[in-house]
Amino acid sequence: MQSWQRQLSDSVVKVEDLPFVSGDEQYREKLKKVAEIFPIRINSYFLKQVKSEHDPLWKQVVPTVEELDDLLRSEEGLDSDPLNEEKDMPVPELVHRYPDRVLLMLNNQCPIICRFCTRKRKIGFPGIVTRETLRQGIEYIAQHPEIRDVIMSGGDPLLVPDKELERILKALREIPHLEIIRIGTRVPGTLPDRITPELCEILKKYHPLYANLHFNHPDEITPEVEVACNRLADAGLPLGAQTVLLKGVNDTVEVMTELVKKLLRVRVKPYYLYQADMTVGTDHFRTSVEKGLEIIRGLQGHTSGMAVPYFVIDTPGGGGKVRLLPDSIVEFTDKEVVVRNFEGKTFRYPQPLEKQPKRKTPQPEPAAPSSKLCELA
Ligand SMILES: *Cc1c(COP(=O)(O)O)cnc(C)c1O
Ligand code: SF4
Repeated sequence: MQSWQRQLSDSVVKVEDLPFVSGDEQYREKLKKVAEIFPIRINSYFLKQVKSEHDPLWKQVVPTVEELDDLLRSEEGLDSDPLNEEKDMPVPELVHRYPDRVLLMLNNQCPIICRFCTRKRKIGFPGIVTRETLRQGIEYIAQHPEIRDVIMSGGDPLLVPDKELERILKALREIPHLEIIRIGTRVPGTLPDRITPELCEILKKYHPLYANLHFNHPDEITPEVEVACNRLADAGLPLGAQTVLLKGVNDTVEVMTELVKKLLRVRVKPYYLYQADMTVGTDHFRTSVEKGLEIIRGLQGHTSGMAVPYFVIDTPGGGGKVRLLPDSIVEFTDKEVVVRNFEGKTFRYPQPLEKQPKRKTPQPEPAAPSSKLCELA
């Protein structure tokens, strides 16, 4: 057994085994109810990084009674499938929402179970993704020449055993119209030993292959994680990061600044910062939308442009991602655009002449007999 397999099999999955849980027996009994609905998984590598019950890593994985409270408030637009993914599944476990790309679920197991997960309805329950759903998904992609980009998702595709993962990659690469393959994963940041040299040897055979890694807090970037990211980057995968904005975990400019700088140091480019989805049982993690804009305002211009992710809302009901920007445009006319910079100062940018409104040009004065059009003429 490899170290990562041991860390995974040593996961905490029961309320009885949670360290750091304050509260009495009654509280723990309630947590057991929560865990019956939304399973627990904290692998032993991740648990080792947790320092106390206030730890931002701990808050992402420890169940709380608020999850049950949230369940009872379903009238507020919360949903077990807030992005309406099931409606955009032409075959089971494949989401075809955008014209040229699809999301393919490879499994529904994860290295940890995040309490705020959008796919809370599926994660950790066996038997949803099967060999048969995968076969149908790959067949669907093969039959749809408009699909040029597939995102392997789940669950976590990097928990699929090497041999099986290679079989899937190979099948996808046999589809001539498929240009790029992406991997969406939280493994490098939460179970870094899984990124073995053997895994990288497999991955590098199937380029162009990209990976978007889930990271929410700078403390997740440990020396082990740095090794994992370097291995993936050395295998030639461009690395992006996806982050969920979470109340009490990363909802300050300071924490986010540290996170994005640390990501660039381990060769990961921040890609998306997500406003938390309206998932049942996760409402207590939601921040106001202003918070996200404030964070982007705090990053843009203040640190490397490469460190600034796109702040997006994945629209409830399944309209896809929409990018939000803090107001940098003060005024916008055909004549000019007035913009505000990161220090709050305003600047004018005149539009090109053909855009400018036709001015009523005054009739030229009759030329005085002595005037010359050009001094050099
Ligand atoms: C996010 C997402 C994608 C990928 O979106 P990009 O903006 O191209 O990264 C594709 N399909 C679904 C269903 C998604 O949610
Ligand atoms: S790793 Fe991703 S899919 Fe898995 S529980 Fe966390 S957020 Fe959900």
